[in-house]
Amino acid sequence: MSNDDARPAALPDDVAPEKRDFIRQIVREDLASGRHTSVKTRFPPEPNGYLHIGHAKAICLDFGIASEFDGVCNLRLDDTNPAKEDPEYVRAIQDDVRWLGFDWHDLRHASDYFEVLYLAGEKLIRQGDAFVCDLTAEQVREYRGTLTEPGRNSPYRDRSVEENLDLFRRMRAGEFPDGARTLRAKIDMASGNINLRDPALYRIKHVEHQNTGNDWPIYPMYDYAHSLSDAVEGITHSLCTLEFEDHRPLYDWCVDKVDLANSPDLIAPLLAKGLPKEASKPRQIEFSRLNFNYLVMSKRKLLAMVEDRLVDGWDDPRMPTLQGIRRRGYTPSALRLMVDRVGISKQNSLLDISILEGALREDLDAAAPRRMGVIDPVKLVLANLPEDHEESLTFSNHPKDESFGQRSVPFSRELWIEREDFEEVPPKGFKRLTTGGEVRLRGAGIVRCDEVVKNDAGEIVELRGWLDPESRPGMAGAERKIKGTIHWVSAKHAVAAEIRLYDRLFTVPNPDDESEGKTYRDYMNPESRRTVTGYVEPAAASAAPEQSFQFERTGYFVADRYDHTPERPVFNRSVTLRDTWATKG
Ligand code: ATP
Ligand code: MG
Repeated sequence: MSNDDARPAALPDDVAPEKRDFIRQIVREDLASGRHTSVKTRFPPEPNGYLHIGHAKAICLDFGIASEFDGVCNLRLDDTNPAKEDPEYVRAIQDDVRWLGFDWHDLRHASDYFEVLYLAGEKLIRQGDAFVCDLTAEQVREYRGTLTEPGRNSPYRDRSVEENLDLFRRMRAGEFPDGARTLRAKIDMASGNINLRDPALYRIKHVEHQNTGNDWPIYPMYDYAHSLSDAVEGITHSLCTLEFEDHRPLYDWCVDKVDLANSPDLIAPLLAKGLPKEASKPRQIEFSRLNFNYLVMSKRKLLAMVEDRLVDGWDDPRMPTLQGIRRRGYTPSALRLMVDRVGISKQNSLLDISILEGALREDLDAAAPRRMGVIDPVKLVLANLPEDHEESLTFSNHPKDESFGQRSVPFSRELWIEREDFEEVPPKGFKRLTTGGEVRLRGAGIVRCDEVVKNDAGEIVELRGWLDPESRPGMAGAERKIKGTIHWVSAKHAVAAEIRLYDRLFTVPNPDDESEGKTYRDYMNPESRRTVTGYVEPAAASAAPEQSFQFERTGYFVADRYDHTPERPVFNRSVTLRDTWATKG
């Protein structure tokens, strides 16, 4: 092959930068060369926990590539490990994939193929490519060798085909206890790749399965089940994370040796179940995992945090699960934007959480209507207005997008404003309200503070001010220059709201770091949730659950998916307007 041949085909000019990654390029080339005429991918989660932000990357890639190349993507529940799996997870996984904006071609379970996988095991035995081994788990470890030393052949490796078939059938019939025997591939105990040292294909486990009940006392191992499931489904490109790179030779071995495409007898049980025959030779391609600092993403740790009540559940808005961040106010488009930004490569890295938060800010800046909400209220009385003064002001819902329309905002003599927007003794450069000073009330006019009312403890309970009549909307002085503008709500009309101020769950960038004898539990942020009672304008209170808003000057908030009602509004802070951590350390 000349150097010219080795160069990748030129990219068409119209390919967007975020779609130029090496995997899409392989797919493009496979279609151009005629190696494949259509594209089929799959997303294969194990239903042993809830999906997290990392999975969003795999979902966007698997489903995204299928749709960009006019192909299809299956959702396959990789349910080969019955002890840890649960139908609750199966439901949540489907909910999450749909929420992200994707739909699957077929919903499959690896367990749909148990019969095929079993028959494939018999085929391997007949070919002399697999044997039943009686070594205990501990002995298997001893025989396996190490990275620097070759392993040794199992004493059971040369059993006859007849004996192997008989024992494998009796394993399947449930005759032997857990762990007594395994079916192993016969490959090479001296291979430099430990995954090829006669890996187990089947183990005995008398455990009920969420899909197949008590039908099976033996269960296939991951590499075997995964590669053959891909082949059965006619997957063309099997995308997975880098830790499977060393498993690829075994993946290919299983696909080649079983050769489903040329084994109609193996596919027969599937046809009886109504599943189509699509057997092919899939190709595994690995990409780097998505990891963010300030998060933990292993399912094991997330499960422990739920079980030990360090969080309120899998859908706690501080959790990196898709259910959690959805409740937090993350949008599917923000996640897709983040995945595009991060890109696809083979370099593992710990990304800065600001990439995730930045994508959400950018998405909500464009997509979230504006509202006013006061989080830490203090009363401001406009003493020169009549007691019963009431009017309706018209506000646009989005400063940059007229299609959001307008709304009425009630205005009256008594307002709630943000406590921090008033200072009796203003620090230098303070542009908001002070005694004797003026500030603009967003969309309503200019107020001067004349009097501060305090309780016996010296705390400010009320501010009394004078609203300049000439500065009202439509009046000659409405455009009068003034340094600061603050938000407000009408006390008479605003609705008291529970506001949950969320922040990062961990205080350090790498909570997984256990180098100083600590664990992620030592780094939990005690201020990751603060709940306050604030006031929101009526047009925020009446929102449907999951509606996002920018509360002007304050941040992005979402009406809680479960607890919010118009009568008792509950808003979760999704993200602050600016990155408040960037300046902290
Ligand atoms: P965890 O290690 O968090 O338990 P997992 O890899 O065991 O996750 P699976 O349910 O097996 O989770 O994953 C389903 C698919 O999602 C796999 O193809 C896996 O490679 C991919 N995936 C899992 N975590 C990430 C991640 N952080 N970034 C990108 N893809 C991921
Ligand atoms: Mg896994």
